[in-house]
Amino acid sequence: MQTQATWQEVLTQLKPRIGESFLEKWFQSVRCIEFSEGDLVLWVPDTFHRDWIQDHFGKDLRDSIKSIGGNTPRIKFVVGDNGRMPEADQRPDLSQARDWPRSKPSIKPPTRSQSESVSCGLNQRYIFDNFVVGPSNEFAHAACKAVAEQEARNYNPLFIYGGVGLGKTHLLNAVGNHLMQANNGARVLCIQTENFVNEMIHGIRYEKMNEFRNKYRKQYNILLMDDVHVLAGKEQTQEEFFYTFNDLYSSGKKIIMTSDRFPKDMPELKERLRSRFESGIIVDIQPPEFETRLAILTGKAEEQGIDLPHEVAMFLAEKLTGSTRTLEGTLIRLGAFSSFAGQTIDIRMASDVLSAIHDEGDSLLTSDLIMKTVAEYFKIKVSDLKSKKRNRKYAYPRQLAMYLVREFLGLSYPEIGSCFGGKNHATVIHAYKKIVGCQEQSQETRLHIASIKRSLGVG
Ligand code: ADP
Ligand code: MG
Repeated sequence: MQTQATWQEVLTQLKPRIGESFLEKWFQSVRCIEFSEGDLVLWVPDTFHRDWIQDHFGKDLRDSIKSIGGNTPRIKFVVGDNGRMPEADQRPDLSQARDWPRSKPSIKPPTRSQSESVSCGLNQRYIFDNFVVGPSNEFAHAACKAVAEQEARNYNPLFIYGGVGLGKTHLLNAVGNHLMQANNGARVLCIQTENFVNEMIHGIRYEKMNEFRNKYRKQYNILLMDDVHVLAGKEQTQEEFFYTFNDLYSSGKKIIMTSDRFPKDMPELKERLRSRFESGIIVDIQPPEFETRLAILTGKAEEQGIDLPHEVAMFLAEKLTGSTRTLEGTLIRLGAFSSFAGQTIDIRMASDVLSAIHDEGDSLLTSDLIMKTVAEYFKIKVSDLKSKKRNRKYAYPRQLAMYLVREFLGLSYPEIGSCFGGKNHATVIHAYKKIVGCQEQSQETRLHIASIKRSLGVG
């Protein structure tokens, strides 16, 4: 009884954080089995649900628990058997939870109408509102906005290209999130091309190509494919994507792709696929100019709760001319530096942080640097971190490194997977959760993390 009452309170707190429609969509079928100081155990219908909740709402869930005065428990999941809910008699507290949508009149049960929007794989952090528009990206931004507002029927496909860290993934997700908000029956699939490739290989190996095709060709009406340059050189996947593309295109579905190269600069791409890529509209994103960098820094500092004085923002925007990810990495490092030192950020601190970075041969906080530092710390090789070796000597440092990359660089799980030799995103999620758990339970893990942070110059 107590468990359900507390869980309902958590859901009430969660609602303004994630919005009513996400609450309905993702928590409607979730049941709380146990809620103690140590563990929150949730029943979810399938692993997809579990991964989605962990990935997108883990932090919001923890914050909601904190806001009702709870300690942050470990969140555990029980995955349902063939989508069946647990029996009420086995789980005495569930009847209350099952009543949850009805007992909260403000949260209506999902309508399941034709116009219901569904999405898969979107990162909710990336929206138009927190994307800074400047001359370097205004054309790409305008094209994405037009597609999101469904004004641009002939911008299909939309091909966005630009260097690493310039905001392609951000814009791609912003389109998807906008369509989801509009609640117009959009069915949005956002996928890293790497995952498309892996799913296809899995489909072939386990004779599940029908399922794979059904997912990509039938279930969604908007396909957002991130980083299509990874298709270069992969002939069989190109072939499959070509048919997927044609199928979607001919039934009037929208396709947006991002790439770090222009179609013409991908010689390993088959001609007929290249001409498909070029058949709609191509927009590029250039490195941001000073004013844009300044606005991005200010916005990110606000988002991260970092108190960044204006003159320091100007100083950094002047010095850091490369990718936006570099700006963000430096800002996070500066924020960490300031909070560990207990000092407010000033120009001197910023210049110390920058020169520390400079001493490392211009290697800002990157996944390579994190891997190198972790490998040195555990006296193994970077190649061991990227390998498939499973014994603890390698698995634990690998999980720790994945955790740090996520914490410091905020890369997505598939992105982290590819930094670590092409691991699948579920492996990364597992690693991340494992280290979060270890940190809570083991002094040893906390010490390792503190030492590695010091070596990275952020602790
Ligand atoms: P890409 O996919 O091109 O490598 P991302 O979209 O992942 O780059 O962007 C890297 C980081 O920089 C993200 O955190 C993103 O939010 C941020 N970013 C890039 N461009 C902008 C922008 N114009 N305004 C705000 N944030 C930006
Ligand atoms: Mg990207």
